[in-house]
Amino acid sequence: SASLPTDLEIAHAATLRPLVDVGSDLGLTEDQLEPWGRDVAKIDLAVLDEPDAGHRAKYVVVTAITPTPLGEGKTTTSVGLAQALGRLDKRAVVALRQPSMGPTFGIKGGAAGGGYSQVVPMERLNLHLTGDFHAVTAAHNLLSAMIDNHLHHGNKLGIDVRNITWRRVLDVNDRALRTVIVGIGAREDGLVRQTGFDITAASEVMVLLTLATSLEDLRLRLGRIVVAYTVEGKSVTADDLQAAGAMSVILRDALKPNLLQTLEGGPAIIHCGPFGNIATGTSSVIADLVGVRGSDYVITEAGFGADMGAERFFNVKCRVSGLVPDAAVLVATVRALKAHSGRWVIKPGKPLPEGLLAESPDDVRSGLPNLRKHIEIIQRFGIAPVVAINAFPTDFDSEHAVIQQLCDELGVRCAVTTHVADGGAGALELARVVTEAAEEPNDFRFLYPLEMPLTEKIETVAREVYGADGIDVSPSAAKALAEYERLGFGTLPVVIAKTHLSISSSPSLKGAPTGWRLPVREVRAAVGAGYVYAICGDMRTMPGLPKSPNAERIDLTEDGSIVGLS
Ligand code: ADP
Ligand code: MG
Repeated sequence: SASLPTDLEIAHAATLRPLVDVGSDLGLTEDQLEPWGRDVAKIDLAVLDEPDAGHRAKYVVVTAITPTPLGEGKTTTSVGLAQALGRLDKRAVVALRQPSMGPTFGIKGGAAGGGYSQVVPMERLNLHLTGDFHAVTAAHNLLSAMIDNHLHHGNKLGIDVRNITWRRVLDVNDRALRTVIVGIGAREDGLVRQTGFDITAASEVMVLLTLATSLEDLRLRLGRIVVAYTVEGKSVTADDLQAAGAMSVILRDALKPNLLQTLEGGPAIIHCGPFGNIATGTSSVIADLVGVRGSDYVITEAGFGADMGAERFFNVKCRVSGLVPDAAVLVATVRALKAHSGRWVIKPGKPLPEGLLAESPDDVRSGLPNLRKHIEIIQRFGIAPVVAINAFPTDFDSEHAVIQQLCDELGVRCAVTTHVADGGAGALELARVVTEAAEEPNDFRFLYPLEMPLTEKIETVAREVYGADGIDVSPSAAKALAEYERLGFGTLPVVIAKTHLSISSSPSLKGAPTGWRLPVREVRAAVGAGYVYAICGDMRTMPGLPKSPNAERIDLTEDGSIVGLS
């Protein structure tokens, strides 16, 4: 609203608690915190080796209906809910991804929550934080350099130069680097070949870091990364290149989660930031393992809608961590439901369409099939959904009532939350229904057993989560899937990379599309991270900048403070 100060202004006005006190709320002693500049600390991984007191927090995932390009408020709701639980005298910690700097300077601006539900210090969070992203970039590119060096020095492993899957990464949105030719120049400048850059958030090292459960596990996963194939079709790994040891050295500190705080002084663990399209889109397993030991509630976000984020959270992340979720918050907004009516198109970087904000319970009602489908997706995993109506100042009560009515009909808990305008005080009702849901026993189950063949796993997600009639696997994808089974990757879980703007694979299909089939164009193996991913649509792994990037508005004032970050 016009009366609300900017996120940056609110963040600047906050008085921060000493981080030792924040850590102590999470059961951490001063010597378990490694100060990393003012108001940020890394958490010593030794806390995980201490005998467990048997206490385990309730574990709550925050997901959403199909988002618009603007985002529907999962991050703000996660922070607001943790703040509200704190007001109800629960020890609550929010565990979130670190924002990628690429989008910060592109369209998105800051991504530390919003309004009175934010994580602070906001600039530290949105800019380098403790350098974990840079460490991922460095570790990833060291491996790239060692591949090209290996080719230069005779290619003893017999790498097929046309079948190198490992690229390079950078945390800058730079479309000009999507395809590059390396090695041009003199003979000693290396072998000429075509490759390209992805954004650091799309690096397998980034998602691997979120799924590693210890330093030892990190080292093992790095070694298993498949970078290329030989002409005979044998996989070539980071261990074959003897690169994984040095990579794990670069990543040693990055495996430690970062402790910050919410605007209301509760603990916030910020760790890693893998892409939501080709990767899992969640913060780290380690952060959650630290969180559940020392609190009553761990609130964590899973990227995009429940079809993508929650599915991977359940099938991939929870399988690695062994943690069983106790509830899932499903964020819904009036603007997104109106968009799912099919009457409005919301575009990134553009003003909202005229008329979208006019009072229209009918528009909201037309969008409800999308909400209903996401509720069913969560229930399919045996978890109780709680619908959070993330209220915008432009909403009408009549529009919220339509959403509440559906939830009543379905017997699903629901609460309106105003945490962006009101902080934790605005999410008290949500916190109350979340605790109610989390106290109930649940029937959590994975969607598929790991022994199921890869193609069947993809088909199971397509049919049972997305509501597709089936899958159409391209000949090259079918060949790769057969190869992966032969190479022993068949017991990995799957991640399906499709558009987040529809439950289907076509961004223009709104609501809960039926009568469609999922086209599996290509499959790739992230063996180190531990999954196979299927590409179903055009996937950008290196974003570009918009015509007028946010970077044009970000600046330093004379006293060194930052303006324009949000
Ligand atoms: P997500 O995590 O689902 O992508 P965010 O929580 O980052 O979404 O919110 C997306 C954007 O919308 C942010 O700029 C945020 O500040 C803004 N926003 C979210 N909820 C509200 C709200 N209730 N009122 C006003 N702005 C909001
Ligand atoms: Mg978010």
